[in-house]
Amino acid sequence: MNPVTVITGGSRGIGAATARRLAAEGHHVAIGYRRDHDAAAQVVADIRAHGRHAVAVPADTCDPDQVQSLFDAAADLGPLTGLVNNAGVTSPVGPFTDLRADHLRRVVDVNLIGYVLCAQQAARRLTTGGAIVNISSAAATLGSPGEYIHYAAVKAATDTLTIGLAKELAPRGIRVNAVAPGIIRTDIHADSGVPDRADTAVGRIPLGRAGEPDEVAGAIAWLLGPDATYTTGAVLRVSGGL
Ligand code: NAP
Repeated sequence: MNPVTVITGGSRGIGAATARRLAAEGHHVAIGYRRDHDAAAQVVADIRAHGRHAVAVPADTCDPDQVQSLFDAAADLGPLTGLVNNAGVTSPVGPFTDLRADHLRRVVDVNLIGYVLCAQQAARRLTTGGAIVNISSAAATLGSPGEYIHYAAVKAATDTLTIGLAKELAPRGIRVNAVAPGIIRTDIHADSGVPDRADTAVGRIPLGRAGEPDEVAGAIAWLLGPDATYTTGAVLRVSGGL
């Protein structure tokens, strides 16, 4: 039977690359997204071109009812085997003293509350084992001074969530790991007001370039797959050495 995987934030960036990668490896895929319907429809078409089943559901991960709808739609593809907890946002880069409360709350809502709500749905529905991959960030250990310390702190919470869930769910055969990307070429940098960050940050990256979404997707696919059956509670850094 084909694996069935939910990917939040599957319309663009790392989530979209992961959806295409997992489809190529035999997964049926349910993607959640917030508002980019055209991008989500293109990902669904690409998954179906691999001969897999796919569904795209507009579901804000901060809303428990919408999260439930996403997982209900995934159930139509077959028994759930995995979750990629990926939908995330940053906020405008800047000094800590300028951080606005509404930006802080949004970052916590999407990157922490949303991850917990989705992991909870997955944990309830993965009745015969499975795997969860939480997308963290290298920021969790770097702290992101002068950029977005609050985002870094929430990503550190993702790592803690990963460790706790890995231990709690291990007796049920559910593995939980995280991938911590460095600077990856996606639209997220435009949302934080630095659209060219993947180029301007190159001097900080030991490998001398930003990463591509496909390079993160490969790590996620490995953690979900049969070569990672003894790996749980790990945070796999995919950051070019950052
Ligand atoms: P991206 O290109 O901006 O894509 C974000 C995706 O998340 C989109 O599909 C978006 O949907 C969706 N989304 C945003 N808020 C949502 C919400 N509340 N509910 C449901 N979906 C939502 O981002 P990315 O760079 O691929 O980032 C993916 C993950 O990697 C995030 O957790 C991010 O923190 C992490 N990360 C990224 C980098 C990097 O350099 N890119 C580095 C470290 C960690 P719409 O298309 O509908 O807007």
